Order: sequence, then C-alpha cells, then structure tokens
Amino acid sequence: EAAKNIELEMNNVNKNLESGQNEVLILRKKIEALESELKETQATSMVDHLTKTLNRRSFEIELKKVEARYIRNREDYAIVFFDIDFFKKVNDTYGHDAGDIILKTFASLITKLTRDTDIVARYGGEEFIAILNYKHPTELHRYIERIKTVVTKNKFVYQQNKIEITFSAGVQIRSNNSNAAQTVSNADKLLYQAKDTGRNKIVFWDKKEM
Ligand code: GH3
Ligand code: MG
Ligand code: MG
Repeated sequence: EAAKNIELEMNNVNKNLESGQNEVLILRKKIEALESELKETQATSMVDHLTKTLNRRSFEIELKKVEARYIRNREDYAIVFFDIDFFKKVNDTYGHDAGDIILKTFASLITKLTRDTDIVARYGGEEFIAILNYKHPTELHRYIERIKTVVTKNKFVYQQNKIEITFSAGVQIRSNNSNAAQTVSNADKLLYQAKDTGRNKIVFWDKKEM
C-alpha cells in the first residue's frame, strides 16, 4: 500500500515537473517573440517610414557621437541641410503620391552619394540633413557638386510625368562653431539664405555659393 502511494505521488511529481517544463518552454517562446518584436520596434523607431533614411531622433544620436569624436580628436565634420525647392507646388501639380516618390528618390540619391561612414537623415517634411566627416573642404565642395548634378540633371519620373527638381542647401562646419547645436542651427540659417536669394543654390559657411 505504502509503495503504491509513493508511486502515485512520484507520478504526480513527474506530471507537475513536465507541466512546469512546458510552462518554461512556453515562457521562453513568449520572451523570444517579445525580444524580436522589441528589436523590430527599435529598428523602425530609428528609420523614417517613407524614405527609409534615419529619422531625426537617430540624427540626434549620431550627432552626439561625431561631437564626442570631435572633442576627443578634433576631427572636424560638416552639417548639410537640404531642402527641396517649391515642393508644395510638386504636390499641388502632380499629387501627394508623386511627392512621396520624389522624396524617396531624393533620399536614395543623397544616400548613394554619401559615404557609409557619414550620415543622412530625414529632418522633417522635404528637409534632409547630412553629417560629413572630412579632411579638406574640397571634399565637401565635390560632394555637393555631385549631388547637385545628379538631382538637377535628372528628371524624376512619375507615371507619364517627368518632373524637374531643384534643392537648396546650407553647409556649415563644426570648427567654425562653438558646439554641435550651433553648427546645425547655422547650417539652417545658410539654407534660408539660399532660399531668400533665389533657391537652387548652396551656401557654404565662408559665404561661398554654388
Ligand atoms: P521652399 O522652396 O521655400 O522650400 O518651398 P516648399 O514648397 O518646398 O516648402 P513648404 O515648406 O512651403 O512646403 C513643404 C511641402 O512639403 C508641404 C508639405 O505638404 C510637403 N510635404 C511634407 N512632407 C511630405 C510627405 O511626406 N509627402 C509629400 N508628398 N509631401 C510632403
Ligand atoms: Mg522646400
Ligand atoms: Mg522645408
């Protein structure tokens, strides 16, 4: 009788153990699912949904990194603000979908012409921002020249429409400013100078224009 009771008890213990193991397995699966969901959320919260470039939040994180490098090694960097000219008119003329495609294409052109070690982000609307590491200012002039050529010499195609686009930009360098935020804000000021003086123009920190 006692042996039988012990056997029964053992069976119960085993059953409990098995169901315990199942619960652990189920929990592990749930944790794995949550982890991959978290990874995905983190990835999407870094990237702009439409253009797949980094978003403004990621830009701020990247800016902190280059700024830290600047403080450590005095490796200068440049901030470039790009803004598409008369973009509202593109939307009004060809529709919002056409506008979206132009934004995507514009973003991918800039990204392709930017080194992998540099940063391109969508700052908002039809405004993009780049962080460029550089050794000599001519690198920055060449970069801007390449982008200007590619954007203005190509027609953006949407359905049967060929749409011509120009942009304005402001280029500011960190070593000309006392901190990262001031560099960004002064790049923005140069962009607005380019807008105010006719658009389809790039204004550099030393007032050079292209
Ligand atoms: P400016 O030359 O002075 O820059 O003129 P603009 O028309 O480009 O600038 P404005 O700031 O007046 O208008 C920006 C337009 O960009 C208005 C807004 O509807 C459009 N826009 C912003 N985000 C998006 C988007 O995600 N998709 C589309 N299609 N349009 C957008
Ligand atoms: Mg604009
Ligand atoms: Mg704008």
